[in-house]
Amino acid sequence: MFDVVVVGGGPAGATAAEDLARSGARVAMLDRAGRIKPCGGAIPPRLIADFHIPDSQIVARIRTARMISPTQRAVDIPIENGFVGMVDREHFDEFLRTRAVEAGAERLTGTFLRIEREGGTTAVVYRDKASREERRAVTRLIVGADGARSDVARAEVPGGDRIPYVIAYHEIIAAPAGGTADYDPDRCDVIYDGKISPDFYGWVFPHGAQASVGMGTGIDGVDLKRATAALRHAAGLTGCETIRKEGAPIPLKPLDKWDNDRDTVLAGDAAGVVAPSSGEGIYYAMVGGRVAATAAAATLASGRVKDLQLARRLFMKEHKTVFRVLRSMQDAYYKSDERRERFVSLCHDVDVQRLTFEAYMNKKLVKARPMAHVRIGLKNLAHLTRLVPETYA
Ligand SMILES: Cc1cc2nc3c(=O)[nH]c(=O)nc-3n(C[C@H](O)[C@H](O)[C@H](O)COP(=O)(O)OP(=O)(O)OC[C@H]3O[C@@H](n4cnc5c(N)ncnc54)[C@H](O)[C@@H]3O)c2cc1C
Repeated sequence: MFDVVVVGGGPAGATAAEDLARSGARVAMLDRAGRIKPCGGAIPPRLIADFHIPDSQIVARIRTARMISPTQRAVDIPIENGFVGMVDREHFDEFLRTRAVEAGAERLTGTFLRIEREGGTTAVVYRDKASREERRAVTRLIVGADGARSDVARAEVPGGDRIPYVIAYHEIIAAPAGGTADYDPDRCDVIYDGKISPDFYGWVFPHGAQASVGMGTGIDGVDLKRATAALRHAAGLTGCETIRKEGAPIPLKPLDKWDNDRDTVLAGDAAGVVAPSSGEGIYYAMVGGRVAATAAAATLASGRVKDLQLARRLFMKEHKTVFRVLRSMQDAYYKSDERRERFVSLCHDVDVQRLTFEAYMNKKLVKARPMAHVRIGLKNLAHLTRLVPETYA
């Protein structure tokens, strides 16, 4: 009998399991294992600090972000006072799972099948990886952290089967040692170009000895592999060895409700929680795991299922505004090449650079610079209403 079974051992599930184990709960973490999560692996300093990520997990430190427009204009944004960290999900996720087990969580390896409720008991039913047999883990509560297209969300939470997605595809390649004229191992390239992605963006993210090159789109019929080949060509990476080719959905919108008013609460991609515009999900998955653990612990202590609602409430209190701003940026600027050109132009602005990067790095909208906000707001408006020419810098 467990207090909580966490379904999924990615950043959301492993964080929830670790926090619950530390709070003294009897917790199991079920993960099917054997697959590396397709992911660019970029994480902000706030994550490294809040979740105590050791240096050994950081395979590259990024000091510049290069924004590239449809007409190939490049704007380099220096990352001041820190760096964007790069992790390899193969090792990062396993590190998080091991830490959860060391904190006291029991690890179950197998595939989630369903939740059964009979005679007042609830059980998570899964296929055990080693024996191939069906097993039951009896529990009081469940955290659904089984990623995008979550089976737990689909079965338990209204709307869980209708989360909108972009499909992201990337290739992990062997990076040219020391870099080239077009590839810098300390720089992330973000490519806004309708030929690469008509509704999202492409990227080249260095990972030390490897690099992730890919793009995302929610539009059917876009050839993801061809777009990625074009990205590799533009960055002079066509001849590099391809180590893996893989794709996965990135959810676009958090669900309105994360619990089932009974015994289950969602976290991370399962709840649709990825930042609009950027597709950043690792930090938000870990925060989601943390607030799900807080909500589950509160419910275990009080016996009130209503306390499961705490998860979404705590998350939104902190991140709602950033999500809203990023959503409107995506709606405004990812529509056409003309808008993308304007977006990259806007990135020339030092105030825009500082505020976006402060928001990314520290997950806070900085209130101390009200005039910068006003200036950015006006420039934004001028671009969207075409009061300034496209080549404004
Ligand atoms: C190509 C791509 C690039 C990305 N790049 C970035 C980036 O650079 N930075 C960033 O912050 N975010 C990025 N993201 C988003 C990020 O990867 C996700 O938001 C994040 O992994 C979500 O974490 P999670 O724990 O919620 O889900 P996941 O990481 O998907 O973990 C879910 C876990 O559940 C397990 N699981 C699933 N189903 C079952 C089942 N039936 N039974 C048992 N176990 C199950 C899986 O094995 C997995 O371990 C990217 C996503 C994609 C697709």
